[in-house]
Amino acid sequence: MAKVLYIEDNPDNMQLVQRVITALGYQFLWAADGLTGVRMVEADQPDLILLDINLPDIDGYEVARRLRANKNHLYVPIIAITANALKGDAEMALSAGCDVYMSKPVNIRELRAHVVGFLPNTKAPAAPGQEQAI
Ligand code: MN
Repeated sequence: MAKVLYIEDNPDNMQLVQRVITALGYQFLWAADGLTGVRMVEADQPDLILLDINLPDIDGYEVARRLRANKNHLYVPIIAITANALKGDAEMALSAGCDVYMSKPVNIRELRAHVVGFLPNTKAPAAPGQEQAI
């Protein structure tokens, strides 16, 4: 089962995203600050990272830079999810090493599409009645 790590200090956002990720059939991990997040990437080897930018310690840009500075984490997909609406934030997230930038409030359909798109070979188990013929 693919693992998705969400680095986010807001419990309400965390719970919303947790519901989406677990409903898709993925394992959900949570880190409430940036340094814990970096440590959990080392320890848990997630297949995808969802990353808040405004965190209580190091910000999400710094988290992304630290991960990309480690050759073990050059290619793990990182989706930045942030309330920052300032011009240039998307560019900053991308130049820090994030693959995709999403703004809050989280659009559930957009989040699902990105997550499934980055984890194409780890298809979530089909719900009863939703199996598809190959
Ligand atoms: Mn935050």
